[in-house]
Amino acid sequence: MSEQFDIAVIGSGAAGIAAAVCAARAGRNTLLLDKNNSAGGTGGFSGLTTLCGLCDDTGNFLNDGFAKEFAGAIAETAPLQMGKAWVLPYRQEKFRAIAEKFFADESKLQTRWNTLLANVVVENNRIISLNDFVVGAVIDCSGSAEVARKIGIECLETDETTQASAVIFPLHNVVREMLTSAAAAQVLLPLARAGFPSVNFQSNLEPNSVTVKFAGSPEQVPSLIEFLRATIHGFENCSTPLKKSSVARRAGRMIVGEYVLTGADVLAAKKFPDAAAKCAWPVEQWNAAGKTRLRYLPPGEHYEIPARSLRAAKIKNLFMAGKTISADVDAIASARVMGCCLATGAAAGILAADYLDCAKQQ
Ligand SMILES: Cc1cc2nc3c(=O)[nH]c(=O)nc-3n(C[C@H](O)[C@H](O)[C@H](O)COP(=O)(O)OP(=O)(O)OC[C@H]3O[C@@H](n4cnc5c(N)ncnc54)[C@H](O)[C@@H]3O)c2cc1C
Repeated sequence: MSEQFDIAVIGSGAAGIAAAVCAARAGRNTLLLDKNNSAGGTGGFSGLTTLCGLCDDTGNFLNDGFAKEFAGAIAETAPLQMGKAWVLPYRQEKFRAIAEKFFADESKLQTRWNTLLANVVVENNRIISLNDFVVGAVIDCSGSAEVARKIGIECLETDETTQASAVIFPLHNVVREMLTSAAAAQVLLPLARAGFPSVNFQSNLEPNSVTVKFAGSPEQVPSLIEFLRATIHGFENCSTPLKKSSVARRAGRMIVGEYVLTGADVLAAKKFPDAAAKCAWPVEQWNAAGKTRLRYLPPGEHYEIPARSLRAAKIKNLFMAGKTISADVDAIASARVMGCCLATGAAAGILAADYLDCAKQQ
């Protein structure tokens, strides 16, 4: 007979980690499945070093529960102000290790690594099995709506015009202040004049180091570093420890749910009676030339994500979290940051457990 799970979570990035732990804590036998060989997703493997979307514009945590707990466990400093927003610098190794520690504490959670989502069987608008496991509910945390793709339900998509990809890599031995806009401009101008695609510098926890988000290709990274070493004061000895860089994709696919969160909801700081998570991150769009467009919420405000945006419209036992929530291209440009993915993941884990309780009573 096939193995049975109450809840299956597909994808173990920020959203999937939160969803799986919260579903297991709600007493449900939970399966976490990922095509990678361990947990982390974009937050654990892309080179990112700042966790965004945890705080309001005064630096206070917006979501209690697992998002705050996970952030507290990986934190090595308090959140830092970056312009009008706040970010938590973190190390990717610690992000992955803390996820494993949370999993080890949950006796009702099982993981399956190196496992691609394969067959998904639907009957009477419910998923009844997945990869031959019998399942009661499913949470799609794949970042690209892989469950929805398998069963052919309606999705929305971002693209390279608003959520362009980037190469992310650390740059060590940088002996120059880089993290204010004025300081960065002195470096960015000569790079632009030399014809390099757009570059963005972010903080990380290593001394004399910055994290680079580069709109060019992985093949252009060595010439970018060579140019910095040859021409920019303070970068003479800079280098990256990465042997090979790769492209990280911002663009995702969102599953249409009972409610589609819009960019207008985000910018109006809309509140909902069925609020499941809060976020105050701006609508952050990147075009293919690497130019950012940031649209902020009113000062002191946050918006809410309703539970209906975490429930698929057409499939009764399908939930979503992270980059796959039911949101339009503007709303996901805010809600895709990891602090928000942790919060929607935690909420989806609890919603899926509640759904099973209700289904049992009927
Ligand atoms: C260039 C770039 C810069 C960014 N900068 C920041 C930043 O500074 N701060 C911030 O907070 N956020 C940033 N983000 C956004 C953030 O990293 C992601 O939106 C977030 O991590 C998404 O989390 P997730 O859990 O939804 O999905 P992911 O982290 O993408 O996790 C999805 C998981 O699903 C698995 N999966 C996918 N398909 C399958 C399948 N078919 N079968 C099995 N498993 C599957 C994957 O292996 C992966 O582990 C950035 C993103 C990009 C691309």
